[in-house]
Amino acid sequence: LATQLHSSHQTIVKLSQTAAFGGKEVIIIGGPCAVESLEQMEIVAQKLSAAPVQALRGGVYKPRTSPYAFQGMGEEGLAVLAKVRSRYNIPVITEVMSISQIEVVAAHADMLQIGSRNMQNFDLLKALGQAGKPILLKRGLAATIEEFVMAAEYILSHGNPDVVLCERGIRSFDNYTRNVLDLGAVVALKQITHLPVIVDPSHAVGKRELVAPLAKAAVACGADGLIIECHPEPEKSVSDARQALSLDDMVSLVDSLKPVAVAV
Ligand code: PEP
Ligand code: MN
Repeated sequence: LATQLHSSHQTIVKLSQTAAFGGKEVIIIGGPCAVESLEQMEIVAQKLSAAPVQALRGGVYKPRTSPYAFQGMGEEGLAVLAKVRSRYNIPVITEVMSISQIEVVAAHADMLQIGSRNMQNFDLLKALGQAGKPILLKRGLAATIEEFVMAAEYILSHGNPDVVLCERGIRSFDNYTRNVLDLGAVVALKQITHLPVIVDPSHAVGKRELVAPLAKAAVACGADGLIIECHPEPEKSVSDARQALSLDDMVSLVDSLKPVAVAV
């Protein structure tokens, strides 16, 4: 069960030869909301691999509110991710929206992200049991902790033990911040499950000037990692522009976390 059987057990999810979720190190994942071009991802990879972050993110299949908005580069974007992955020797994480995308994404990425909108897509969760790659499961927009844990359970019970939970903010009455970051859930999930728990402050607050303090708060609460959106030209991001950090601000944030990036 995803819920803790023995309080001492902690699942370690390996990301690469040197990085794993659930150990002492706080894992930082950075990159744009969406992969837009090879040039964009080259700039991101060069800057962030030196920061360093432990993995790059970038969506190629994008779950957009409007069907008329940019839907992602698809397989062309996967080729871009594969290029920077090998050129910079850094793991990449990208979202899978349907069962039919699992195979091709698993062939190009080190970890598959399941977005909030698919947290309870049970057929997709079952299929991830055989994906052969670690899964980053994001909390649904209005999912309870119980529902979140049981969604993870679908993946575990279908054969894949490598699941990382991601708190990314939940809907509430106030839209000044895009969502409300539920740090209580982070602490609770650490206590009641044996799975690593990371935090996405970008989608939680939706405003770049609020991202860094919440990233630090997440680490203070015991998060095993962070996933943060950043872009070479934040205002020009094709999606989630308002929450994207500049690459310089991302590097500063990584620097500021170095003293606490090893859990005690
Ligand atoms: C994303 O990571 O770009 C994303 C769409 O996140 P979420 O599923 O948390 O909204
Ligand atoms: Mn996004």
